[in-house]
Amino acid sequence: MTKPNVVVSDTKSGISMAITVAVRNSALFTTASQKPPAVPGTYITISKKKLLQNLEINTGAKINSWVDSMRASSPTHLKSTPPLSSDDQSSSTLHHPSALDMFEQITNASKGKQIVMFLDYDGTLSPIVEDPDRAFMSDAMRAAVRKLARYFPTAIVSGRCRDKVYSFVRLAELYYAGSHGMDIKGPSKGYKHKKGAQAVLFQPDAANEFLPMIDEVYEALLEKTKSTEGAKVENNKFCVSVHFRCVDEKKWVELAQQVKSVLKDYPKLRLTQGRKVLEIRPTIKWDKGKALEFLLESLGYANRKDVFPVYIGDDRTDEDAFKVLKERRQGFGILVSKTPKETSASYSLKEPSEVKDFLQRLVQWKRLCLGRQSRVRRQLEDINAISG
Ligand SMILES: [Mg+2]
Repeated sequence: MTKPNVVVSDTKSGISMAITVAVRNSALFTTASQKPPAVPGTYITISKKKLLQNLEINTGAKINSWVDSMRASSPTHLKSTPPLSSDDQSSSTLHHPSALDMFEQITNASKGKQIVMFLDYDGTLSPIVEDPDRAFMSDAMRAAVRKLARYFPTAIVSGRCRDKVYSFVRLAELYYAGSHGMDIKGPSKGYKHKKGAQAVLFQPDAANEFLPMIDEVYEALLEKTKSTEGAKVENNKFCVSVHFRCVDEKKWVELAQQVKSVLKDYPKLRLTQGRKVLEIRPTIKWDKGKALEFLLESLGYANRKDVFPVYIGDDRTDEDAFKVLKERRQGFGILVSKTPKETSASYSLKEPSEVKDFLQRLVQWKRLCLGRQSRVRRQLEDINAISG
């Protein structure tokens, strides 16, 4: 598995770089033709083309591209996302059919393999609500996840701070990967699924170095954005989120400018986008896809063919995990979305209530399988007893 603190070239980096923060100290970034820094690398090298794009952002010329990107990832009405033609819709449904409709095919594909579940939190287990501090999951969803974890190793992978997401989910038997996987902790009580002997409590060394900077940027963003009504800044320990769920769309340019004015002083941080959130993260090669690989390794499934990971998420940042599954040709990704989107996921679910239905069906299916297996075992024992 790739170590977290390696220098990666632009061509090899699978990291999402929807927007990268301004480059002031260009020594930290090298063009593709330059050698990476001699010191242990924690930074992503970027191509000349990307460097120029970043410099354009730095000059302020491209502030509108930030806002366009905010609109694309956070549609508020039909005007923001032109409706797809019926041809596009049917093509998307064809390529990303409902995981509920395809349930039988999915479980057939997993036969003889260990299903491992990875679940995003916001927009997947809980609805997207105006106040991110109140993104609670329903009791029914919690019960579904609790039962799921009895039958399958289960991890929550979120952009939120690990403690925060745990305070929402409150299930000690799960794995939690917070801050986009930069902060991972295993179950706090005995866990039957764990095969490997590794203690799972992981934070990339490179990310730890960023903690004081993240705190500093959090304070600066808090101060800078306080004049924008509805903006909410959240310190997620290894990253900072600027939520704009409650910001009037007319104020998005203003908010983007405020964020940009803070980030221009922090070239070691990069900006990515999620659903109605701007996320500021260290420029280390670590994302939800890496977290998925790390957790599979921790569970003892690193090089095994008989593992079937299922990742369910609704966000751009979840695409890193969908891509990993596609590349590994193992398991599949399920995108939670009401509208067709370009994705590396194989299947789709419309909303958290459908996620709950899918999880419940998985549990029912597994119980049936286990019941059938134990009946067959008993019958064989009876036959052996008679013939013996
Ligand atoms: Mg999400």
